[in-house]
Amino acid sequence: MEKLEQISLSLEIGKVKDELQGGDWVQIQTLLEVAKPLISAKAIYKVCYIEKKFEDTVIIEGIRLKSRVLSKNLEKVGRVFPYIVTIGTSLEQRGDASTDLLEKYYLDKIGNMALSEARNHLEGHLCSRFALDGLSFMSPGSLEDWPIEEQRALFSVLKGAEDSIGVRLTKSLVMIPRKSVSGIYFPTEVTFHSCQLCPRQNCEGRKARYNGDLAKEYGILK
Ligand code: SF4
Repeated sequence: MEKLEQISLSLEIGKVKDELQGGDWVQIQTLLEVAKPLISAKAIYKVCYIEKKFEDTVIIEGIRLKSRVLSKNLEKVGRVFPYIVTIGTSLEQRGDASTDLLEKYYLDKIGNMALSEARNHLEGHLCSRFALDGLSFMSPGSLEDWPIEEQRALFSVLKGAEDSIGVRLTKSLVMIPRKSVSGIYFPTEVTFHSCQLCPRQNCEGRKARYNGDLAKEYGILK
């Protein structure tokens, strides 16, 4: 298992402003400075080869990952990169300790941005280390087709995550620290976003438009 420690994040105020689109800038700037030293971004990943592929299941490291969409995405792929990224517990503890709801909200948003930047860092690392032109990812729980229960399988592939970067999965399938993300990166020519297949409305995390025709192509919409 490979590990990236002390991932350096920029968390530029301009990007934070774009993300929050309004608010008390003096407070946000102050909180950004409070947050930065509390963030400890780390990642682990594995280089895995697909052992078997079925219509709705892929086997890597002897572990079954059950998802029709994942299987279709890996049709022409032989190598994948399961990963976990975290920014640690300190920032969320700071947010939990705050009694100011707006402050909690800003700290949470800053944490999400840090996590997303840390995942982008991992993506850049994988592209450059393995000479890949493009990568996409899928995460358990983002689609009905690959439900959150599949986190157990992913954590089995990434056995030792807690000892390595301090991320564990609870019985109720929550990652601790909460500001952690997990999934599988795979090489793609055209970027895939789970959002393209997710009909959820009013999701502030949406990164791509829902595409019903694509959902039919993937066999998850009749
Ligand atoms: S639209 Fe929202 S819930 Fe659906 S996959 Fe995208 S981020 Fe997740």
